[in-house]
Amino acid sequence: MAQIMQTESIFNHVNGGTAEMFDWEFDPTAVLAEPVPLVVTDNGGIHEIVEEKIAETERGIVLGKNVHTTCLTVTEPEANGEFSGDKEAYMAGVLARFRETMMERTQHHLGYPFNLDLDYSALAPLQHFSINNLGDPFIESNYGVHSRQFEIGVLDWFARLWEIEKNEFWGYITNGGTEGNLHGILVGREVLPNGILYTSTDSHYSIFKAARMYRMECVKVDCLTSGEIDYADFKAKLLQNKDKPAIINVNIGTTVKGAVDDLDLVIQILEESGFKQDRFYIHCDGALFGLMMPFVKNAPKITFKKPIGSVSVSGHKFIGCPMPCGVQITRMEHINVLSRNVEYISSRDATITGSRNGHSPIFLWYTLSRKGYKGLQKEVQKCLRDAHYLKDRLRDAGISAMLNELSSTVVFERPQDEVFVRKWQLACQGNIAHIIVLPNVTTNKLDDFLYELVEKRSTWYQNGKVQPPCIAANIGSENCCCVLHK
Ligand SMILES: *Cc1c(COP(=O)(O)O)cnc(C)c1O
Repeated sequence: MAQIMQTESIFNHVNGGTAEMFDWEFDPTAVLAEPVPLVVTDNGGIHEIVEEKIAETERGIVLGKNVHTTCLTVTEPEANGEFSGDKEAYMAGVLARFRETMMERTQHHLGYPFNLDLDYSALAPLQHFSINNLGDPFIESNYGVHSRQFEIGVLDWFARLWEIEKNEFWGYITNGGTEGNLHGILVGREVLPNGILYTSTDSHYSIFKAARMYRMECVKVDCLTSGEIDYADFKAKLLQNKDKPAIINVNIGTTVKGAVDDLDLVIQILEESGFKQDRFYIHCDGALFGLMMPFVKNAPKITFKKPIGSVSVSGHKFIGCPMPCGVQITRMEHINVLSRNVEYISSRDATITGSRNGHSPIFLWYTLSRKGYKGLQKEVQKCLRDAHYLKDRLRDAGISAMLNELSSTVVFERPQDEVFVRKWQLACQGNIAHIIVLPNVTTNKLDDFLYELVEKRSTWYQNGKVQPPCIAANIGSENCCCVLHK
């Protein structure tokens, strides 16, 4: 009796006191006669599925409108549920055409920081397994189809790169740079619960998203023209908030200009401003360049020998991976602050997501094992060399362009023609565009691009009758080739 009452009280609690019972006889084997739902339209009516096409010219960002530009409708199998030859041929055709599009789009891609040079055919047989590293990488769950041994191998590789002992770090393989940032900022917030988040205006949007998600006070620090954090502004803003601890996001390569914040200077400013090590937490967002900088001669070092709390990188950017992934590493001492034990998975819950992609650690392990530190270094050198080549050719052609010393991101004047921008998949912001030179971007490809750009420009600027815009405010007058600055 006592037990029943207890159950009831839980029920009452959940349903606000109106627990209802099924009043029909339940048949677990009965099925719905027609399980295919009708299609709902905006006004609540029902209509047939029609393929909507929007004219090329109308493309762009449409806010607040869920436009189905193109759509591959999921169609029901034949009436008897059998998989007919026709349908099989149709689906094979769809996939074959999609593959061709992927090949063409891969061929003409310059704007986003993804290394598209992949060969993972050796891993194809693993597609048959639902590999899931749910929970903590270091604590085995009861779920046996996992790849923790690869995950920890990859984490150890990064721990060596960032100089932290095996028994002093904790980390995991994430779904990308964003998840690493969400985790790093969360660790900072848990270690310093009333800390203020400081980050430069050029930071990736995931940092501002973290601040919103965690409802943290966020102070935006100005940037220098290079895209680096403005150190004077940082110091001034720190001094205005001396009563609260500081959580700082340091960019190791900003998204648009590829600028690297000076970690040593940030630490020095914290110390000068009276922040002891137990009153600040530094997260390093190294999504792209975090994996390139260690291989650049005389570059500043990201290392846990300095008072940093966490570092994250994306795995699909410089390394190259068919699915988004990343690596997040923090100190062991910090992770105990935020983790909980969960009996259901018999593991510890210290990650952002529950289920975690168990394939990506194998892909990372595969590439790191094949290329090694030396192979990656060669690729980094080639990228930096080719980025300089691109910047020099642009400037030779009278086109405004900037390349930060520690970067393979070439920033230049935004092309005037959206079709051209889309063809080369350039990332643009305001008056500027950029090309990120990664291992799959060959000099041949850059030459093709340059040839086409120069040709198009002569039309856009009517062979010199129209002047290209001045972009000195974005990239500095020394890099601008407008009439005023050249
Ligand atoms: C790309 C990028 C991110 C986000 O990484 P995703 O893997 O796309 O989630 C974060 N920070 C910087 C600086 C980036 O360039």
